[in-house]
Amino acid sequence: MSETVARETAAHRIHPVTVAPSERQTEAIAQEEEHAAHNYHPLPVVVAEGQGAWVTDIDGRRYLDCLAAYSAVNFGHSNPVLLDAARAQLDRITLTSRAFHNDQLGPFVAELAQLAGKDMVLPMNTGAEAVESAIKVARAWGYRVKGVPDGAANIIVMAGNFHGRTTTIVSFSDDPDARDDFGPYTPGFRTVPYGDAAALAAAVDEDTVAVLVEPIQGEAGIVVPPPDFLPAVRALCDERRILFIADEIQSGLGRTGATFACDLAGVVPDLYLLGKALGGGIVPVSAVVGDRDVLGVLRPGEHGSTFGGNPLAAAVGRAVVALLATGEPQERAELLGRRLHAGLERLIGHGVLAVRGAGLWAGIDIDPDLATGREVCELLMERGVLAKDTHGSTIRLAPPIVVDPADLDWAVEQLEVVLLDLSGR
Ligand SMILES: *Cc1c(COP(=O)(O)O)cnc(C)c1O
Repeated sequence: MSETVARETAAHRIHPVTVAPSERQTEAIAQEEEHAAHNYHPLPVVVAEGQGAWVTDIDGRRYLDCLAAYSAVNFGHSNPVLLDAARAQLDRITLTSRAFHNDQLGPFVAELAQLAGKDMVLPMNTGAEAVESAIKVARAWGYRVKGVPDGAANIIVMAGNFHGRTTTIVSFSDDPDARDDFGPYTPGFRTVPYGDAAALAAAVDEDTVAVLVEPIQGEAGIVVPPPDFLPAVRALCDERRILFIADEIQSGLGRTGATFACDLAGVVPDLYLLGKALGGGIVPVSAVVGDRDVLGVLRPGEHGSTFGGNPLAAAVGRAVVALLATGEPQERAELLGRRLHAGLERLIGHGVLAVRGAGLWAGIDIDPDLATGREVCELLMERGVLAKDTHGSTIRLAPPIVVDPADLDWAVEQLEVVLLDLSGR
């Protein structure tokens, strides 16, 4: 990078940590606390604008966004190409319902199917809906194609999974916060330890219709399975005629340095579940992507969504697919990911116990004797870096892929300073 660019970048990193929160910020937080259900515990920052990897709060403080809305903002805030696609579509038509065809859906599903190397796409809105849709497809496939007795289908899921928040999905979560008090639970799921191919093989039977796996577990703390695990899932599914469903809602679409995290393990699942970044950080767009012999089981009237496949979502989704089709975001995530991981590895033994991840995605286990993940995130926030803790002492870094390399280094430096301050306390 040229010196001029470096200096300009440095200028927008200036973060007035000394500025006390304004009354406007306090008021905005109080209003949310008072009237929004308390199903989140946000950091005390009120974001008002975003550009690339940076966001600005209502008092004008700037922060490097190292969460990127759980990878929904992989291509950066206010990405000009994606915004243009959305704006152009806003002026044409935004919603038709699937009662009629619209001129964006056909190209969107064709282009997304091509990106994934599959035949068909079932468009939905949120990630949880993609997961729910895949469960329905897998069960219907089991009864109609595999010949499983009616009502007997089972699906194998992984311990530590995160697939969303609906009643069926929390039924097979093992996180008490996600699950407790939300029963009765949907039956038909079996849990095996993540990464344990032998346990998986022992759990399947003739009524198993699918194995549902995150190729890298995001919410669990960016947990990467042993390298032979996903190939073993693929082999077992082939052998026992079971659908391999890869939940790539967070891991997919560039984050790991590949289009799909499954690519890194050299496996192709039967169904990809996509969401988050598919909507370019603009609208919720999700999809189940697979071949005709599986997705083709759905018949008219059996599944649907008022907003699924709407022309605005499809237009934004097309622009996202076009970005990924160049291979550039994946390449950048791979390159910057190596830089990020090299920086983080140096912190091991200095307040960090372990670092995991792939591409521009890192789970960092903080020494619990030093601080909780939440405390580290609060201190990072004061230094102009927004990150999110998960499971007590783990923090994750997943900045938009458009992040400037120097800004990325700077974020790691801020973490280093926070850990140094904590150990000197
Ligand atoms: C976020 C996420 C979901 C749920 O997506 P929503 O859009 O929040 O419903 C499902 N699976 C994984 C792996 C996720 O990270």
